Amino acid sequence: MAKITKLDDIVSLCKRRGFIFQSSEIYGGLASCYDYGPLGVELKNNVKKAWWKSVVQMRDDVVGIDCSILMHPMVWKSSGHADKFADLIAECKKCNTRTRVDHLQENAAEQTDEHTEHIAIDAAMSQAQDLNNKVCPACGTVGQFTEPMPFKLMFETKMGANIDDSMTIQLRPETAQGIFANFRNVLDTTRVKIPFGIAQIGKSFRNEVTTKAFIFRTREFEQAELEFFCEPGTDEGWFEHWKQARFNWYINLGMKKENLRFREHDPDELAHYAKGCVDVEYKFPFGSGDWQELEGIANRTDYDLRQHQRGIRTLNKWYENNRDLSKIQLADEAGDYNKGPLSYFDETKKVRYIPYVIEPSAGIDRSALAYLVDAYDEEEVRGETRNLLRFHPALAPVKAAIFPLVKKEGMPEVALNIYNELKKYFNCFYDEKGAVGRRYRRQDEAGTPFCVTVDGQTLEDNTVTVRDRDSMEQVRLPTDKILTYLREKLDL
Ligand code: ATP
Repeated sequence: MAKITKLDDIVSLCKRRGFIFQSSEIYGGLASCYDYGPLGVELKNNVKKAWWKSVVQMRDDVVGIDCSILMHPMVWKSSGHADKFADLIAECKKCNTRTRVDHLQENAAEQTDEHTEHIAIDAAMSQAQDLNNKVCPACGTVGQFTEPMPFKLMFETKMGANIDDSMTIQLRPETAQGIFANFRNVLDTTRVKIPFGIAQIGKSFRNEVTTKAFIFRTREFEQAELEFFCEPGTDEGWFEHWKQARFNWYINLGMKKENLRFREHDPDELAHYAKGCVDVEYKFPFGSGDWQELEGIANRTDYDLRQHQRGIRTLNKWYENNRDLSKIQLADEAGDYNKGPLSYFDETKKVRYIPYVIEPSAGIDRSALAYLVDAYDEEEVRGETRNLLRFHPALAPVKAAIFPLVKKEGMPEVALNIYNELKKYFNCFYDEKGAVGRRYRRQDEAGTPFCVTVDGQTLEDNTVTVRDRDSMEQVRLPTDKILTYLREKLDL
C-alpha cells in the first residue's frame, strides 16, 4: 500500500532534486518566497500548459489574454480591493505576534476544518467576536489580544521618477481584474459571442499575514483564472459545467479521486454579490483539517463589470481629488449601466445586458504542490527503498532519460544520437555517470516516465531497452521505433 506522504518528505525531495528552493537562500532566505529550480520550472510550466490546453486550446468559446501586473489605481477602487481587501488581525499583548482573527483557535477546543478565505472586512468584523478564549499560536497565551484591526493585503509601490508626478500603485492581488478591464477590447477585436470566456495565467501578490506550508500560501504566487461571460439566467448551468470541468482536470492529470472533493460555501461565507461558490479541495498532508482549497469556482453575477462601469463614470472625481482613492465614492450603484461600454448587445435577440460571470480561479503553485504530493511514493524493491514521483506524463519535467549501459564500446555515441533525435520532440535527459541502477533511481525520483538504455545488444541488432518508471518493466525495441513508441505512451 502506498505510504502516507509527509510534507517534510516533499520539501526535502524538492530541495535535493532541484524542484524548489527558498528564495535568496544564500542570504538566509526571504520568508514565504520560493524559487523553482531546473525540474520545478518544467513541472510548473507543464501545469500551466495543461491548464491552458484544457481551458483555452481545446475550447472554441475561450480566448486567452496576458495583462500587466501594474494597473490603474481606479481598477482596485471599482473592484472593491482598495477599500475591502484586508484581513482582520489581532496582536498578542505578550509576544506581539499578529495573527488573522479567523485563524485563532479556541483554547482547548476541538480543532475544526480550517477555512481561510480572505473575507471582506465588514463581514470579518462581525465574526471577530470575543477573543477572550482564543490562543496565541506563537506563545500559547490565552485571551491577551489587542482590538482586531484591518491589515491591507495589497503590496504598494511608486510609479514614476519625479516626486510631483509619481503615484502609488498596487501589485495586483488577482489576475481577474485585468480580464474585466479588457472585456470591451476583446469583444471589439475578436469574433467572440456570449457565452464565452477570457483566460489568463499570471503572477499575483498578497501581503499575507500568515503564510504556510511551503508553496501552499505565499506572498507572490501564480494564478490561472477564467472569467466566463454568460447571459443572466444561464449562469447556473454554466456554474455546474465549470465545476465539473475543473474537477475533471485534476482527475485527468492523474490526481487520486479520494484526495479531491468539493466544498460548497455556506451562505454566510459568500460575498454579498456572489450567487454561489464552491471550492475544489485537496487532502494535503498538513494543517488541522487536511482538506485545503486548491481552486474556487464562483458565480460572480454581473458584479465586476457593473462595478467597472461605475468606476469609469467616477474617473473625473479621481483627478479632482488629487488621485486620492480614499476621498472618492463610486458613481451611484443604481445607475443605468446597461448602456455602458462593458455591456453586451445580443444581435440575435436584440437585447443589451451586463453579462453574468462564472469564475474558476486556481493557484498554479498550489496545484503543483498537490501534484507533487499526490505523485510521491516510496516502495521497497529488493530490500531497498525506491522514492518515486508517479507524475502523469503531461506533467513530468523530463519525459525520457537516455543512458549508455557503460561509458565505452561506442555505447555513448549511439545513446547520444538517440538523445539528440528525441529531444526535438520532448524534454529528454542524457546520463552516462555511475551504475545504471542508480541512474534509474535518480530518474524515478524526478518522475521521468521512461528510461532508454543502449547496451551491448544494441551494437549487434540495433535494439534498446525501454524501462517504465511505474512498473519497472523493460521492453526491447528497435531504435527506429523508440520515438513512435514514446509519443504514443506519453500522448505527445
Ligand atoms: P485562501 O483561502 O487560501 O487564502 P482565497 O480564497 O483567498 O485563498 P482566491 O482569492 O479564491 O483565494 O484565489 C484563488 C486561488 O488562488 C486559490 O484557490 C489558491 O489556489 C490561489 N491562491 C490564493 N492565495 C494564494 C497564496 N497566498 N499563495 C498561493 N496560492 C494562492
